[in-house]
Amino acid sequence: MIIKNVVRKVRCDMPNCKNIADFKVEKSGFFRSVGLNLCNCCINELYSEIGKIVVPKSPENIFNKKIKVTKEVKGEK
Ligand SMILES: [Zn+2]
Repeated sequence: MIIKNVVRKVRCDMPNCKNIADFKVEKSGFFRSVGLNLCNCCINELYSEIGKIVVPKSPENIFNKKIKVTKEVKGEK
C-alpha cells in the first residue's frame, strides 16, 4: 500500500468532511483510480487512531513466530 500526494482537486472521502484531499491511499494491483482520498486533517486523525490499535511487532514476538513456524515445518504441535 502506498500514499501519494493528490494532484487533481478532489474532495476528501471521509463523510462529513468538506476539505480538498491532499493524500491518496492506494493499494497496488487495483485500478489506478481506486483508493482513498484524504485531506491533511483526516489523515492525521487516522494516523493517531491507527496508533491505538496497531502495535509494532516487538523482537520477542518475531522470535516466537519463528519457533512456531519451525515446529509446523517439522510437523510438531
Ligand atoms: Zn478530510
